[in-house]
Parts: sequence; C-alpha cells; structure tokens
Amino acid sequence: MRGVGLKVIASRIRDASDVFLFTHEFADGDALGSMVALTLYLQAMDKSVHAFVPGKIQSAFQFLATDKLLNTMSAAQAAVQIGAARVTCLSADAADIDRLGEWKSLFLSGAERLVIDHHDTNTGFGDVFAIDGSASSCCEILFDLFKTINPRLINTRIASALYAGLVADTGSFQYANTKALSLVHGAQLIDLGALPDEISRSVYESKSYESLKLVAASVAASRLMYGGQIVVSYVTRSMLADSSALDEDTEGITDELRRIAGTKAVVLFKEASDGSVKVSLRGKYGFNVKRIATTFGGGGHLLAAGCTIKSELGEAEARVLAELDRYLGPSRT
Ligand code: 5GP
Ligand code: MN
Repeated sequence: MRGVGLKVIASRIRDASDVFLFTHEFADGDALGSMVALTLYLQAMDKSVHAFVPGKIQSAFQFLATDKLLNTMSAAQAAVQIGAARVTCLSADAADIDRLGEWKSLFLSGAERLVIDHHDTNTGFGDVFAIDGSASSCCEILFDLFKTINPRLINTRIASALYAGLVADTGSFQYANTKALSLVHGAQLIDLGALPDEISRSVYESKSYESLKLVAASVAASRLMYGGQIVVSYVTRSMLADSSALDEDTEGITDELRRIAGTKAVVLFKEASDGSVKVSLRGKYGFNVKRIATTFGGGGHLLAAGCTIKSELGEAEARVLAELDRYLGPSRT
C-alpha cells in the first residue's frame, strides 16, 4: 500500500459530514461497484453523500440501482453545496485526475481530497491517498476499508456491489490479478449476502442484441499481426451506427478477442464521438501492455491498460503499431 493506509482514510471519513464521490470515465464494474458500495456505506454512516460519475452509466449495472444512487445531484447544486459546506471529495478507481472527466474541477474544489485506488500507475493525486497495486480491484480495498470503519454496516446491497466490482475486474476470478485473498474476499461477500449467480447473469448475460452485433462486427474487422501474437480491431462510428449500438456496448469486445489461441495482446481502437481514439489494451502470458498505454499518456495495469489519442483512427493506429514494433517488430505480418 502506497500513501497513508486505510486507517487514516477511515478517520478522515469518520470526521466528514458531506462526501462527494468520484470515479473514472467509461466507468466499469469496479468503478460503479465502488460508487454504489461507498454511497450505501456512507449513507449507513449517516453522511450526506453524492456520487458524480462522468458520462453515461452503462446499463449492465442497473441491478445495483445505479440510476437511483448515482448522479443524483446536478453540477449547479454541487457547486452551491461545495461553496457552502465543508465537503470531503473521495475518488475511487481513477488512476489519474483527468479520468474524472467533467467532474475534475468539482473534485479539486473540495475542502479535502482523498484518493483510493489499485492502479500501479496512480502517482497519488489528492491530499491523501491509499494505493494498493496488488489489490485486484478497488472494491477489494473498499471492503477492507469498510471492515476497518465498522464491519457491521456492510449489508447485502453493499456486499453485492463490492462483489460485482471484484468479479468485473478479475474477469470472474480468471485474470492474473486474482489472488487467494480475492477469493477469500469473494467468499466473505457471499456470506454477507452477495448472490454470485444473479450478479454474473446481470453483468455478463444481460447484453442488448445490438451490442452483440457490434462485437460480431469488431471480430469480423480484426486482424492478426506480428505472427499472430497481436490481434488488432476497431470500433468506428459507422460500425456503431450500423449495429445501432451505443458507446458503452464496446465493453466485452476485448474479452472476445483475447480468446484466440497464441495471442499475447489485444489492441482495440475505438473512435470516440469527440473525434479522439480510445485505445483498450489487454495482455496475456505476462505481455506488458501498460508500458504501451503510458507512452500515450494513459495507464492501467500490466495486463489491462488504456489511453486516449487525440487524432484520427489511422494515425492513432500508426502510432500504437510503431510502439509495438519496438517489442515485436520489425515484421508486422
Ligand atoms: P479499458 O480498456 O477497459 O478502458 O481500461 C483498462 C484499464 O486501463 C482500466 O484499469 C483503466 O482504468 C485503465 N485505463 C484505461 N484508459 C486509461 C487512461 O486513459 N488513462 C489511465 N491512466 N488509465 C486508463
Ligand atoms: Mn478497477
């Protein structure tokens, strides 16, 4: 654990009365699980709490009541409250401050800024931070935090949100970040009422038909490169339009592509609506994709990383491939 440790974070939270929560844009299961678990837990502590999640919240996590619990306060209301009261801002699962998206300045205007994260690349923004790169998920760290504050407040809904984040970031306890402790935590969360079958069904088997068509289009557009070591694919604006899919429906494409035997990494280029390109990288067999993401100002983990490149798709691809050449070149075929 880098930074102050959970005891200090726990005491800052105990002392707070108003808490604003923040997480990263394109919020995934760990990010949303963290926001829901924190909201419910802080409510159980009788805090006034509001979560600010950038962008649109993906529908797969509606079973956690994301629509009722998150983004309940407008930017205007938040600005009034942060001016009138002492507000503690807490960021969870965001590797750097820019990932807070449109809520970055609100986070910065808090009376104090706390950061909890499990990304190695997090250099520690905020006034006080606790970063544990060995935790599979931010939800695992939060589970420890809640136990430190008061384990009796962890109810079934909180356990379910934490379990959802744990499942999402470990790929159902399959990825290399799955430690013995992750399974112990999973077991404890089941004891506290999380239902593994229901949560897996909600996370993995509640996709729209359109999103599956987008996966199919992206698999069809994929190419094997560097002697089959790398699979590259795309989600263009026209692929999104053709399949009537949404930006959030790109979740799951990398999971499909990584299934190909012999591949060491997946590189997925997604055209964002603002003209930039979001790159998702996944490594296998220990192939370090974080070093590629960090070259372009992104970050993440050894085997799951990402970055945003502000150029059109062809140029973004050329730049990432030039970087891959350094490790796998010279031949791209
Ligand atoms: P994804 O490809 O699912 O968007 O992200 C994979 C991992 O990389 C996640 O852990 C995510 O937090 C991290 N990541 C993705 N994009 C960025 C980025 O632009 N900056 C940083 N620092 N991390 C990112
Ligand atoms: Mn995470």
